[in-house]
Amino acid sequence: MNLSKSETLFTEAKKYIPGGVNSPVRAFKSVGGSPVFMQRGEGSKLFDVDGNEYVDYIGSWGPHLFGHNPSFIKDALLSSLENGTSFGAPTEAEVKMAKLITELVPSVEMVRMVNSGTEATMSAVRVARGYTGREKFIKFEGCYHGHADYFLIKAGSGALTFGVPTSPGVTSGNAADTLIADYNNIDSIKALVKENKNQIAAVIIEPVAGNMGTVRSTDEFVRELREICSEEKIVLIFDEVMTGFRLSKGGAQELLGITPDLSTFGKIIGGGLPVGAFGGKKEIMEFVSPQGPVYQAGTLSGNPLAMSAGLAVLSYIKENPDVYNKLEEKSKLLEDGFNENLKSLNKKFAFNRVGSMGTLFFTEQPVTDFNSAFTSDTKLYGKFFHEMLNRGIYLAPAQFEAFFISLSHTGEDLNKTIKAQYESLKAIL
Ligand SMILES: *Cc1c(COP(=O)(O)O)cnc(C)c1O
Repeated sequence: MNLSKSETLFTEAKKYIPGGVNSPVRAFKSVGGSPVFMQRGEGSKLFDVDGNEYVDYIGSWGPHLFGHNPSFIKDALLSSLENGTSFGAPTEAEVKMAKLITELVPSVEMVRMVNSGTEATMSAVRVARGYTGREKFIKFEGCYHGHADYFLIKAGSGALTFGVPTSPGVTSGNAADTLIADYNNIDSIKALVKENKNQIAAVIIEPVAGNMGTVRSTDEFVRELREICSEEKIVLIFDEVMTGFRLSKGGAQELLGITPDLSTFGKIIGGGLPVGAFGGKKEIMEFVSPQGPVYQAGTLSGNPLAMSAGLAVLSYIKENPDVYNKLEEKSKLLEDGFNENLKSLNKKFAFNRVGSMGTLFFTEQPVTDFNSAFTSDTKLYGKFFHEMLNRGIYLAPAQFEAFFISLSHTGEDLNKTIKAQYESLKAIL
């Protein structure tokens, strides 16, 4: 495969942009090699600057539920563009958007639009702190909630010790207020709650995790988590930036049958534009300024172009509830093919799928949390990734990510992918 233009661009990019990219995982660091520069997306396909074609399973890291550049989103954007790009004043589209979100996700009674998932989670934790008057919060090892300082914390050595920053520039003060629990392990929550009685403002969780690869929380675990949060007056935040409008019209919370106090959204909600949102119980959201005392703002929040794309997506979902059955059908087809491949190659790699997101972990241990995910052979994944790329299949350039299936993936795409997987695994094992 000829990637010469991509390679030239990457060399040039590294002179002016740190690492040559505007978000780290795009740089292919964990799989080796040089990133592919894309030129155009259409449906399930991406086309790079050298003219190569790929079946895309990244979908811009989650947003493209309908594939690339569907005409109904493009039309909405073009007609909104006629009226201008930004007014810094309220618009009707924002009211429609907020109303539609509250209809699709019943736990959300009030919502505030922001510009990214990071802003949504950062603001949700701030509101939870303002509402409860408490400072600490709990996150889970392996869950990702964007790059606000107080999320870039991992567990220190030994349970119940202070968290430690995962990045220079994050203060120990931030780390001290972030408590780290183990995913799917209710005892780790109980211990932290006991140790920090009446000090915990919130628990934030990816109800189905996608950022350590795909890992589902167990029914029993989330049910107990919900109970503990209610008893202890801790705000339960579901970070649905990835799962919202992907796993069902009501997100992971509908799938799991659990009602969080606050939820955060991003990715799909913007139809490919930079959008995020946080919302939930009215009683809590009334603390957000200007109604309440917790400051939160944004020059481009609720931007008309972004709202038109988001509205197009959410309206489509509302009017076509069979979207999720179709996604499930496609995803099942891929899963069955993958399982067949693994069987005939006599490999018991863990394959997790929830709806249209999934991950093949290069470990034969079941993956239920960060530690089990971490037993994966990431070098082997890197080889697999390049074999797939050479066969025109564009997967995430890192083991601990999900693949996303869109409504635009055809039977032909999926069968091509299954065949490529078989050949790629055979080549590297
Ligand atoms: C992507 C993601 C974020 C961060 O969203 P950005 O738009 O990249 O800031 C937060 N939480 C989860 C679960 C995500 O998947």
